[in-house]
Amino acid sequence: MGFFTDTTLCIGCKACEVACKQWNQLPDDGFLFTGMSYDNTGQLGASTWRHVAFVERTTRLPGQGTPRDGTEAGTMAFAPLRPAGQPGTTSLLADFVAPSHIESPVPLGPTQRALSNFSWLMMSDVCKHCERAGCLEACPTGSIVRTEFGSVYVQPDVCNGCGYCVSACPFGVIARREDDGRAWKCTLCYDRLKDGMVPACAKACPTASIQFGELGELRARGAKRVEQLLARGVAEARLYGESALAQPGTEGLHAFFLLCDEPEAYNLPPDPVVPTKHITRAWYAMAASVVGLAALCLGAVAGARRT
Ligand code: SF4
Ligand code: SF4
Repeated sequence: MGFFTDTTLCIGCKACEVACKQWNQLPDDGFLFTGMSYDNTGQLGASTWRHVAFVERTTRLPGQGTPRDGTEAGTMAFAPLRPAGQPGTTSLLADFVAPSHIESPVPLGPTQRALSNFSWLMMSDVCKHCERAGCLEACPTGSIVRTEFGSVYVQPDVCNGCGYCVSACPFGVIARREDDGRAWKCTLCYDRLKDGMVPACAKACPTASIQFGELGELRARGAKRVEQLLARGVAEARLYGESALAQPGTEGLHAFFLLCDEPEAYNLPPDPVVPTKHITRAWYAMAASVVGLAALCLGAVAGARRT
């Protein structure tokens, strides 16, 4: 199970952040604006398990220019692509936008024309629940485990606060909380899943930008959505981390994304690699050095005896 986050449908309402905070009873972050954008959270952290990034760019999105574009994209996405695990669509677009509006674009006003060379990319970021998770592999106490849903879960009563997981996460997701020193991150709402419910963020998202479900189904849905966008001229549309093939460094993500720009634009590493991936090679290199050193010593001793 996992998340497919279609960033093209995100409107930056932050309902997912609020739902996550509320359900998981996370402390507030101070609600301060960063001064760099309209974002008032900044990044993921020990008490921010969903973070909606506002990426401001002085470029226009392909197809940007008429108010119909957003509704068209949303409606196209919702008709065939119903959110998994949710009873029908929760889409405001699908509920309230009549198909006739899609056929008749509204002309742009002066303000819209002035802003037409500006675009926002919005993305609700979260723990990626990596198939090969650096945090899990680095944890010395066994606090971090893989659940029956495929998610990566931190057991707070076992965590000793050593912080090894923090430096082992290639995405900078997991963090230690200042008050208790332990490591915290998204649980994929394990408690809700146990009761047959979808995670709080996916439930709260009004546009179904966050979709929860079985990974195979989500991957098919993501691929179809990329096809739609490419057909509409959004040449930058791509999936991020949807499979082991696409992201060998983590062997694929259980929370993957549809992006409309390079991963770096969203503050995502282009080619993340779990640090422990190279550990076997390091052990082999160390063993080879020991054997080489031993051979040198034996050679030196044999040479000394001959002289
Ligand atoms: S390595 Fe980072 S992104 Fe991956 S499961 Fe652990 S905390 Fe989440
Ligand atoms: S709830 Fe959905 S639309 Fe609103 S910010 Fe989160 S992902 Fe975006």
